[in-house]
Amino acid sequence: MQIEGILRFVGLFALMVLVPAILLAWYGLGSIRVEELGLDQEVSLDAADRSERVISNLQDDVLSFEQRVLERIESGHSPLVGLVQLEQSLALVVELDSSFEMRSPFVLSEPLMIQDSSPVFDSRWQEAWRLEQEQADADAVAEAYRAVANDTRSTALRGLALLHQGRMLGEANQTDAAVQILEQVIVDYGNVRDSMGFVLGDLASLEVGELLRETSPDSSFGTLEDLVSTLIQRRWVLNNGADAAVARRALSIMETDPDRTPKDSDLLVVYERSQMQYWASQLLPEFQDRINEENQFVVSDSFHWFSTENAIWGLIRWQDGVYAFALKKQEVMERIQGFIGQYVTTQDLLTAEVLPTVGVEQTDALSVRNLGPWLPSLSLVVTARDPVALVDTGTQRAQRRLWIVLVTLGLIVVGILLSARQIKRELDIARMQTDFAANVSHELRSPITQIRLKGEMLMLGMCDEEQERQEAYQAIVRESERLSRLVDNVLDFGAIERGLKQYDMRPADLAATVHRAVDIVSSSQEVQDKTLDLALSEVLPAVEHDPDAIAQCVINLVSNAAKYSDSNGWIGIRCRVLQRAVEITVSDKGIGIAPQDLKNIFEPFFRSEDKSARLRKGTGIGLTITRYIMEAHGGQVSVQSRPGVGSTFTLRFPCSPGDENPRYS
Ligand code: ADP
Repeated sequence: MQIEGILRFVGLFALMVLVPAILLAWYGLGSIRVEELGLDQEVSLDAADRSERVISNLQDDVLSFEQRVLERIESGHSPLVGLVQLEQSLALVVELDSSFEMRSPFVLSEPLMIQDSSPVFDSRWQEAWRLEQEQADADAVAEAYRAVANDTRSTALRGLALLHQGRMLGEANQTDAAVQILEQVIVDYGNVRDSMGFVLGDLASLEVGELLRETSPDSSFGTLEDLVSTLIQRRWVLNNGADAAVARRALSIMETDPDRTPKDSDLLVVYERSQMQYWASQLLPEFQDRINEENQFVVSDSFHWFSTENAIWGLIRWQDGVYAFALKKQEVMERIQGFIGQYVTTQDLLTAEVLPTVGVEQTDALSVRNLGPWLPSLSLVVTARDPVALVDTGTQRAQRRLWIVLVTLGLIVVGILLSARQIKRELDIARMQTDFAANVSHELRSPITQIRLKGEMLMLGMCDEEQERQEAYQAIVRESERLSRLVDNVLDFGAIERGLKQYDMRPADLAATVHRAVDIVSSSQEVQDKTLDLALSEVLPAVEHDPDAIAQCVINLVSNAAKYSDSNGWIGIRCRVLQRAVEITVSDKGIGIAPQDLKNIFEPFFRSEDKSARLRKGTGIGLTITRYIMEAHGGQVSVQSRPGVGSTFTLRFPCSPGDENPRYS
């Protein structure tokens, strides 16, 4: 590896291992410290965060209501009409005058007008009422009510008694007489209210409408329709539902006529107003009390909020008037409970509730947030569900983090070691490649030198004797073969590395291939002085192989055996037929291989560091080529060796058990 390569590797290593390791250690140890020192603070922050979310949801809700009201007002709608549908918790919308009294279209209840409670009136009235309850003759009951009307001095009671007289005459089927009396009531007592707040004229119109239903349906419908439209247009008393009740009754009678149905818009208005009247009776006294308490409200174009016992009130100025919007407090509270469930009680460790603000500063509260400005009397309080469990959880969390940090640090250390090993391997390969280039040059030079030397000797006529000349020719041929074997190995290695090497596989005589290889290699100088002990079975199973490639393997193994043995060494070449394989072994009694080298000798460019091995020249690719070739044949090459004793290399070919009769071409 060149120097830039090393620098690049070191930079990468620093970036991938050292910097993350330092950051992780810093963060991990820091967070453990935070955990140990400030668990309470962390949980408090968590509680505050969750309170914040509940409050912000409430705020979002209220602000969106404000916005919808303002948009509606800007689009030209009166805030009083149709706002009840705007927000499910909206109970009431009223217009106020400058002194915060109710204004159009609603009015507060007027004082009751019935004052008469004389004993005469009471007994007569009760008599008539008793007769009606006992279902006496309708004429008689009508007469009894007429007597009440005659006797009383109260305008309102006279009208009421006449109303009942008219009603009973209707029961007695004296429709004309009944309608006549009722119309008299409408004219004379049209705006008089009874003790329940009903207007007598309205009740009489209702009765007339009902009476005419049988005899004159058209005028019945017209009368009722007129009554409803009058009632809708009239200013209604806010805390008195009487007008709404009459309007509803009239509408329900009209609904029974399938051809003539009331207008939906009328129904809607009556529905909204009766809702408002109900809520007004519940909420307005609170509003009045509050106004009386502090009449310094600053009402501007944006909402001003305050709350009373049952409502949250929003006040806004629009055109000349001031409008009050009441949200039902109960429903808003339910919504807050929903937010709490969403953000706080779903957590195991924390719990939250809404408590009165007064006295809420408990010491064990993790977070206290006031619900003002809408509900200033209430606060959201978050506490630990179980303080002991909280501490335990904190400890467990700290331990878990510690483990994570330790494991990660361990992984980083492993990463460092692996990187170091990788660097060493890269350096080894780089060194082996350099050695390879030098070794190849050297290996090439010695046969070339020999060929040239012998050639020059022949050319210059320095070999007088025929035997000398023959030896020179043989040396030239031998060295040329050695040269060509070396070049073949280098070229093959390059082709194998690039994946370009192809083999000509065919069923061929393995013994013949080995014989041919031994013939070739035995003429080389290093093998010449060795004893070759060749023992091959004559009948071998058919083995599909490329004869040239396998010969190359055998030549490599035999020349290694010769190279790594002393002169006069012994080389044994054997074959073994097994159940499903054929093995060729090449053994020697040479220097052997150190155990730590055994796993590396088949790697490219590897040459043993052993001194006696280093004395022998080589390129470090012979065994690599052998391994590649055997793998391409579906077989393998293995080695057994002991230093100083010798080595045995085995080429193992797989074959089928039935292939005993060779079918060689
Ligand atoms: P080389 O050209 O170095 O012989 P090889 O790939 O053929 O390359 O062998 C790799 C290494 O294996 C050799 O350098 C040597 O250390 C060792 N080796 C191979 N064959 C033998 C053997 N028969 N006896 C001892 N060592 C051997």
